[in-house]
Amino acid sequence: MKSYSLKTKITLWVSVLVIIISFLSALSVLYFSNNITQGVIKRNLISAVESNINEIEIFDNKKTLHLDDEFDIFVKSNNKYIVIDDDFIKEVNNVNISLYDDNDVVYGENLVSAQEHPYSDSGIKEFVVDDKQYFVYDKPINTEGAENLWLRGTIQKDIGFSQTISALQSFVLFVPLIVLIAVLGAILLSSRSLNPIEKISESAQEIRHGNDLSKRIEQSGNTREITILTDSFNGMLERLETSFERERRFNSDVSHELRTPLSVILTAGELASQEDDLQQYKESMEIILRQGNKMSKMINSMLEYSRLDTQNLCFEGIDFSSLVSALAKDIELTDTKSIKLLCDIQDDVFVFADRELISRLVSNLITNAFKYTKQNGSISVSLKNNNGICELSVKDDGIGISKKDIEKIFNMFYRSDTSRNEPGFGLGLSFVKKIAAIHGGTIEVISTEGVGSEFIYKQKIFKNKLF
Ligand code: ADP
Repeated sequence: MKSYSLKTKITLWVSVLVIIISFLSALSVLYFSNNITQGVIKRNLISAVESNINEIEIFDNKKTLHLDDEFDIFVKSNNKYIVIDDDFIKEVNNVNISLYDDNDVVYGENLVSAQEHPYSDSGIKEFVVDDKQYFVYDKPINTEGAENLWLRGTIQKDIGFSQTISALQSFVLFVPLIVLIAVLGAILLSSRSLNPIEKISESAQEIRHGNDLSKRIEQSGNTREITILTDSFNGMLERLETSFERERRFNSDVSHELRTPLSVILTAGELASQEDDLQQYKESMEIILRQGNKMSKMINSMLEYSRLDTQNLCFEGIDFSSLVSALAKDIELTDTKSIKLLCDIQDDVFVFADRELISRLVSNLITNAFKYTKQNGSISVSLKNNNGICELSVKDDGIGISKKDIEKIFNMFYRSDTSRNEPGFGLGLSFVKKIAAIHGGTIEVISTEGVGSEFIYKQKIFKNKLF
């Protein structure tokens, strides 16, 4: 069964199921139809006997005897004069009705002998005569002078069974037709529902062999499940494409950024190896050391950045108000440009965050503000709960950012020309953007070149204070 296609399996299952259901239905038909026909037979038997009971008249002497018409039947038995009306029906609906006097048949057939199977007025009885089963219903004629006169109705029990069998036969004739319809239905249904899956797997194979992650699978099915499957598949491809693209860009950016210090190191090393003058040699060595340190810092930052995706995060309710004011004060201590720091921090603003990452986001923004603000400039850090959204603003009156740079500052390794004098690798804001995304927050910037910049971070407030 393993190697068969899903379509074949579904068709086989449906066929087997329909055959089993048909077989069980046939058994039910047999059972219920037999019960019903047996009931009908018994009712016919009783009504045939009951309707004939008034068709018998008894006379005790010949003088009083009169026949209503020429078709009435006259019988003499044991000094009784019996007139059987012409409405008396001897056989109706396979029921035989006979008139007995004592044990002798006076009129009708003696199918179930009264001698062997005596009368009783106790409903329907079952007797076997010559290997045939009969239902028998007896009724005494309760008129004066009719003592020992009985009507006996008899019907063969298996008459009903043969009717049941013929009903079953007509049912069985339809079974192949039912199975055929079911199998065709199963083939149609399985094809309709599995064709889109086949298309999806064909597209997946194409993408796999062609290595083209920009391809997408067309929506081909009209069922909800197939639409969801296609959407999920395309979503997965989208993520893969973005992550491959990010990796490709990261690799090229990294090699590009490392190339400059590396070539400086190589040149300085080459010079040092040919240098006899100790002073010159020392200078080359210092250059190598400086560039080496720069490379090491850059590599560490890159490693930290790439670890953000895989790092184990520990989210908790954090008192963002205390965290922001503590970080602002700490960074202010490193200030060498007499910058004025103004803090307007609302108390009890809580966020749900990873403490280490959210601290990094805040300190990157404040450090940049100090870095890109001129001597005697001013910075304002404000935090407030704005209708359930925490808003952190870091505003400076520093060098500002030009329109052409503003879209790129969150890209890795991007640094504007005006900021080249300050230390840095152009990774800080990439961290900020990624950390914001990890926390479901947003970061935006408003800046005018030469006037200053404002960075605004927004995240949902954490309602349960926990503390
Ligand atoms: P880095 O500061 O190490 O260069 P960032 O990623 O933190 O890297 O910043 C990227 C660039 O964005 C900076 O080089 C600078 O040009 C610009 N920038 C960031 N913050 C500010 C700011 N407060 N004022 C002016 N320019 C800024």
